[in-house]
Amino acid sequence: MAKGIYKLSVKDLDLHGKRLFMRVDFNVPVKDGKVADDTRIQAALPTLKLVQERGARVILASHLGRPKGEKKPEFSLQPVAGALSRVLGQDVAFVPDCIGPEVAKAVERLKPGQVLLLENVRFYNGETKNDPEFSRQLASVADEYVNDAFGTAHRAHASTVGVPQALGRGAAGLLMEKEVAALSRVLYGAEKPVVAIFGGAKVSDKIDVIQNFLGLADRILLGGGMAFTFLKALGKEIGKSLLEEDRLEVARELLEKARSRGVEVVLPSDVVVAPEFKEGVESRVVSVDAIPADWIGLDVGPQTVAAFKSCLSGARTVIWNGPLGVFEMAQFAQGTLGIAEAVAACGGFTLIGGGDSISAVKKAGVADRISHISTGGGASLEFLSGLELPGIAVLTDKEQ
Ligand code: ADP
Ligand code: MG
Repeated sequence: MAKGIYKLSVKDLDLHGKRLFMRVDFNVPVKDGKVADDTRIQAALPTLKLVQERGARVILASHLGRPKGEKKPEFSLQPVAGALSRVLGQDVAFVPDCIGPEVAKAVERLKPGQVLLLENVRFYNGETKNDPEFSRQLASVADEYVNDAFGTAHRAHASTVGVPQALGRGAAGLLMEKEVAALSRVLYGAEKPVVAIFGGAKVSDKIDVIQNFLGLADRILLGGGMAFTFLKALGKEIGKSLLEEDRLEVARELLEKARSRGVEVVLPSDVVVAPEFKEGVESRVVSVDAIPADWIGLDVGPQTVAAFKSCLSGARTVIWNGPLGVFEMAQFAQGTLGIAEAVAACGGFTLIGGGDSISAVKKAGVADRISHISTGGGASLEFLSGLELPGIAVLTDKEQ
């Protein structure tokens, strides 16, 4: 098997009649006691249906928001039980707790194929502390463990790490497997040339990912607010554009490292500037050598877009994280939308991660032409930074 991460899959488990503890991501927006967007519930269906067909007695666990160890009704998962019943077309039982005798009784009543949703695991501090006793209590009602919540895999919590440890075994759900396969493909088996595009607001958020791609990418394209710290590090006047003074040195070192390793770093050559961070104001395209002292750079310019596009043509692997401009405002969205189109058209394996980057790709209308959209947010970034995610590491290795 090629280098990568290979974990036991939910498909490998014999689940008939077994009590299955499944960690899902039901961290959905709730408004007036109703689920406002059921995307994450829908996303859990493939794994859920599979384990139901296999005859598991399904116990679902999730967090919702940040109740910080208190039983706050506004963070209850109860509305999710209703929404899940509707999409499944089947009753979903709910207990107003995630541990204790009521849970044990509800699990006893479950027949193969039936589903029980537990109350928010973050109603207990033991969850985020990965407390062994809390983990043991969660695990006490289960025979098997599956994690399908990639978005929390970078957290060593009870429901992501403690429970599979207590049970001695854990498998990846279908969503988890898909994320791990796509991200591993980029980190461990990327077809060259590899182009990485980074943007977004802050250098500090992205520095670890960029560092890791110095060892993986042939070319790194930098845009967004972040690029101005790099331009400043090269001695350019950046006006009132976003600057992280305390990252200038890191930016300088990174450019130096790239040069010595033969990785081409492409920075914007022109930018769209405006006198205010506001929609509808006057804006201009200027060279990065002529940014007016009082103006703010809010997008990459057309010459930069053309240069980035030519870097993308012929790329066999592309990863993109971070919009290239303030794409929320139409006036400063051209760079991001242009690159989204070019990424979708490049013909290689394309991976996009980051909440705002996903919005941008949807706005550009090209989401269905991207090979993999990683929904993990912080988890995707940590994975791409080369870090081991505790919620993945704890899952049982697949026999090779
Ligand atoms: P992601 O969520 O995809 O990881 P980030 O959160 O890092 O992306 O960055 C997205 C934000 O960066 C957007 O809100 C966007 O407006 C902002 N941004 C992009 N370019 C600039 C810029 N030139 N100046 C200020 N903010 C910018
Ligand atoms: Mg963001």
